[in-house]
Amino acid sequence: MGQDNFVAQKRASGGGGAGGLPTTTTANGRARTMLPRGRQINKTFNNIKITILCGFVTILVLRGTVGIGNLSSSDADAANQNLIEETNRILKEIRSDSEPDDPAESEINPNVTYSLGPKISNWNQERQVWLSQNPEFPNFVNGKPRILLLTGSPPSPCDNPIGDHYLLKAIKNKIDYCRIHGIEIVYNMAHLDKELAGYWAKLPMIRRLMLSHPEIEWIWWMDSDAMFTDMVFEIPLSKYDKHNLVIHGYPDLLFEQKSWIALNTGSFLFRNCQWSLDLLDAWAPMGPKGAIREEAGKILTANLKGRPAFEADDQSALIYLLLSQKDQWMDKVYIENQYYLHGYWAGLVDRYEEMMEKYHPGLGDERWPFVTHFVGCKPCGSYGDYPVEQCMRSMERAFNFADNQVLKLYGFGHRGLLSPKIKRIRNETVTPLEYVDQFDIRRPVHGNSGSRS
Ligand code: UDP
Ligand code: MN
Repeated sequence: MGQDNFVAQKRASGGGGAGGLPTTTTANGRARTMLPRGRQINKTFNNIKITILCGFVTILVLRGTVGIGNLSSSDADAANQNLIEETNRILKEIRSDSEPDDPAESEINPNVTYSLGPKISNWNQERQVWLSQNPEFPNFVNGKPRILLLTGSPPSPCDNPIGDHYLLKAIKNKIDYCRIHGIEIVYNMAHLDKELAGYWAKLPMIRRLMLSHPEIEWIWWMDSDAMFTDMVFEIPLSKYDKHNLVIHGYPDLLFEQKSWIALNTGSFLFRNCQWSLDLLDAWAPMGPKGAIREEAGKILTANLKGRPAFEADDQSALIYLLLSQKDQWMDKVYIENQYYLHGYWAGLVDRYEEMMEKYHPGLGDERWPFVTHFVGCKPCGSYGDYPVEQCMRSMERAFNFADNQVLKLYGFGHRGLLSPKIKRIRNETVTPLEYVDQFDIRRPVHGNSGSRS
């Protein structure tokens, strides 16, 4: 894998986006959102700007379609040019990170270990009490643990509009999977904690969701640049009865090699329990942006094999934590590699046709990968590690490969893995119920992987 490139991507994704909403903590520890007056005025201005922008765009479109008879073409060009410049100026302002009346950045004290929030120490008990008082929200439904899939992207638009298009395709893909399998889904675009912007933003959100949803047994984080490519496969959760963190990786890469890619934090599951809150607390201190993240990056590079020099990222920090406090954590961590909870795209996307020829959905492994993750592609940023065309083409193929499995339910499919056009694959001479064929992926899959082989 192109590790140098991987770094460029990690580094670039660290900054982005506006700060989160300011929160004030009330006596009982629950945070409520409150906009300061200056910020409110600013928001109003932003809204006005967006309204003006919409007006400009409408004028542009109208002029493009209706045309204007009474201006000479050079006048019209000049006016168009002005509109375009004004539109770009407003867009730039919406995208910009800082707000004019932001209070000065609060310097966090490097001598005090950074914390995700007030310490919680009896969550297991509190959650049990809540579950017994709210029997209409059980954490197991029909014997299956309740799962919530969490994903997200930066608060601001992508650097390139095509990035937003792929974020849309990637969330459509996740909505399809979750709909078919009865999984709840949350899309987060806020930086709940200003210090933990970028790839660290998942930590405070996971914590907050655990506390706000005691009925959820497992929280499953998935990166925005990861797609489900096996719409049938289900995570074999009963296998993890005795574990609290499930993550894709390789124990020998972790403990023997101390490699910085031994685990991948693009797709992992946390059980909703005290242990997970404790792990998040132990994981977060390298996250605060600026000096702390930079210094922590040096420690990670010095200790992890293959890691180039750059600021601390969540993946390296987790690997380092599990290596340095192995006895404390590892008995509850399940390192999964029997199927692709995370699958590195480069080795997979060119084999989809071969897979379609030889295998079928439901396998989840190299025969039909459960998840294809576009590490290093940086679809929403500017500094990907691979040629943009290669990434876009590969993401398009993965999307269509997955979408074919969904469209098949309705008798359709994409013409090819690079084609947005679809074709009918079943005609309507059959009786309606025959549409629900033997490979209908909405049927419960017994025993999971390989059950249909
Ligand atoms: N992310 C987020 N908010 C942000 C920036 C990133 O939620 O402001 C998420 C997004 O889902 C992204 C993930 O963090 O996919 C990790 O970043 P990336 O995929 O670029 O890193 P990589 O997979 O290459 O390590
Ligand atoms: Mn990713």
